[in-house]
Amino acid sequence: MKYDAIIVGSGQAGNPLAYRLADLGWSVALIEKKDLGGTCINVGCTPTKTMVHRAQVAHYARNAARWGVNALNVSVDLAKIVSQKDEVVLSFRGGQQKQVDKRANLRLYRGHARFVGAHQLKVDDVLLESEKTFIDTGGRPNIPVIPGLDTVPYLTNETIMQLMALPERCRPLPCLQELQILHCAKEGGKCGVCK
Ligand SMILES: Cc1cc2nc3c(=O)[nH]c(=O)nc-3n(C[C@H](O)[C@H](O)[C@H](O)COP(=O)(O)OP(=O)(O)OC[C@H]3O[C@@H](n4cnc5c(N)ncnc54)[C@H](O)[C@@H]3O)c2cc1C
Repeated sequence: MKYDAIIVGSGQAGNPLAYRLADLGWSVALIEKKDLGGTCINVGCTPTKTMVHRAQVAHYARNAARWGVNALNVSVDLAKIVSQKDEVVLSFRGGQQKQVDKRANLRLYRGHARFVGAHQLKVDDVLLESEKTFIDTGGRPNIPVIPGLDTVPYLTNETIMQLMALPERCRPLPCLQELQILHCAKEGGKCGVCK
């Protein structure tokens, strides 16, 4: 199939571009290997903010006396919060599906896109062609190389929001750049990252 544009990845970058080009009359192929909406809707902005909101409510309830409110026996039902978070995610994801469905010249391909030529991609066995391909494949969790990390049940932004019970202990790791900075500091600040 030949398209005016092929867009790989249906995240914050790919979706608006796909909708805009389709609205301008282009034939567009949008390829997504996982969930519509990408990181932000599924494992980023939307679910984290839903859960942070619940954390804020718990904070207010636990500290209610500060504002002259009596709230006793405050506890958190994490399984319920996770299920509410999943509902929000599903509804936002469904919103993206509706956006796709209402555009006849926008075709969604589900699967892993890979280039097989300068202007050709394959999704499974389906060959797609276009002079213009936009790679909006975003990000994914980067697991740092730390000795012993593979022997413990570590969590990422994708897995931590599926926990059904609060962990007894949790040690957040700095992101890769922060790790580099810590390493540099240990080495006496003699590397580019510290400058
Ligand atoms: C925990 C967390 C919280 C965040 N909170 C916020 C926030 O509050 N506000 C904010 O502005 N930003 C936030 N972000 C950042 C935001 O999620 C990203 O900036 C945004 O999602 C990037 O959009 P994108 O389209 O570039 O990539 P993505 O959203 O990552 O989308 C890329 C898509 O491409 C697909 N894909 C990749 N390779 C292929 C392939 N070969 N074939 C087919 N499909 C493929 C992926 O499955 C994915 O769906 C947060 C990120 C995280 C991780």
